[in-house]
Amino acid sequence: MRETNFLIENNARQLWHPMAHPADMQANPPRIITSARGVEITDIHGKTVLDGVGGLWNVNLGYSCDPIKQAIKDQLDELPYYSTFRGTTNAPSIELAYELAEWFKPDGLSRAFFTSGGSDSVETCLRLARQYHRVNGQPERTKFIALKKGYHGTHFGGASVNGNQHFRRNYEPLLPGVYHLPAPWPYRNPFGTEDGAEIAAAIGRLFEEEIAFQGADTIAALILEPVLGSGGIIVPHESFLPLMREICDRHGILLIADEVITAFGRTGAWTGSRLWGIKPDLMSTAKAITNGYFPFGVAMISETIAQAFESNKNTLATISHGYTYSGHPIGAAAAIATLKEIRRLDVATNAAARGAELDQGLDGLKARHELVGDVRGIGLMWALELVGDRARKTPAAKDVVQKVQDIAYEAGVLVRTSGANVIISPPLVITAGDVARIVAALDAGL
Ligand code: PLP
Repeated sequence: MRETNFLIENNARQLWHPMAHPADMQANPPRIITSARGVEITDIHGKTVLDGVGGLWNVNLGYSCDPIKQAIKDQLDELPYYSTFRGTTNAPSIELAYELAEWFKPDGLSRAFFTSGGSDSVETCLRLARQYHRVNGQPERTKFIALKKGYHGTHFGGASVNGNQHFRRNYEPLLPGVYHLPAPWPYRNPFGTEDGAEIAAAIGRLFEEEIAFQGADTIAALILEPVLGSGGIIVPHESFLPLMREICDRHGILLIADEVITAFGRTGAWTGSRLWGIKPDLMSTAKAITNGYFPFGVAMISETIAQAFESNKNTLATISHGYTYSGHPIGAAAAIATLKEIRRLDVATNAAARGAELDQGLDGLKARHELVGDVRGIGLMWALELVGDRARKTPAAKDVVQKVQDIAYEAGVLVRTSGANVIISPPLVITAGDVARIVAALDAGL
């Protein structure tokens, strides 16, 4: 590693950071993280803090998971790369597809298409949805419906279904034929109620109205996150996803569950789809599949869609899509080891138990600090929405939110900020003591 001064001086010069203004990097330099053990990370100044972000919602097992590291090292020696494009394949990707078919069996998903990350997985689902309708004799079904506040990565397809202006405006025009419904969000919504069931029903009515307006025979799929993550941790009412599923079914519209964050236990259930008791037609996932140790993702495909492709010998059913790193053997080996560890440690159960403690702690913060307008989350994905005025729900100023993060860091915990939200998404292996550390650091910050 180069010396500290070189790294600090050059970080903001040659390196453009995702989701950051290049000109802001000198004034607000990012923290340089140099090592990590367990659930803690250490920065270049030698300060060690609890990682309340979990890498980027992906390091669910923490940083010292030796079986995954060993699997990566072994695979690097055995076969560091071979492609899965037509004509060749590799052993780890075959084994992983087998394991994933087992893993996602309760979600009704049985085929795997590998990718290099979440945005790729979303793109793959969008493409396969359109292609499925072609294969199925309904080529006019090309449109997509999504949720405002939804986040689906940054490829053009994903950005088009994205429900946040911030990720759209600079890159427009995006894909035509995409329509957005309001988010199932009790704290802020256009329905004048905080009742989750009423909000779900109202969105259902808007969905039906949009389908009638567009024509069901023109709509390929609805894409949504079972719990909206990057949009500020929006947990829908339990009736919401079953209602969306039922409407999709009635109109021949596919349901794509974007589970890049929620698929491997973060909500306290093994998938967000299982949390709400629905079966999606396609699922995009990535992140925790390799515990963040290798860039990897997968689009999972239902039996019905699989049968439609596999029984159609026409070139229409050829998948003219894929990535050089689809089924990368190192990523696949890392994922096989990750699945074993996730199961062995039963991290979904721990996420639910620690989540309940965190919920209590964060509610306590809301009771003590006027700055906290809303606390929301499930499992180990939480947001504190900071406000300047509780009654009016005016978002807190940017520098206030930044200050909360900075002081929490000084107090020993890294959390993320997103707009006026403080986001907490620690590894799923944290202890009750770690929860107490997070709450205490946030208390200091607030
Ligand atoms: N979809 C969802 C729900 C996500 O949360 C993310 C990333 O946070 C993505 C897609 C994009 O994944 P990636 O950043 O790996 O491309």
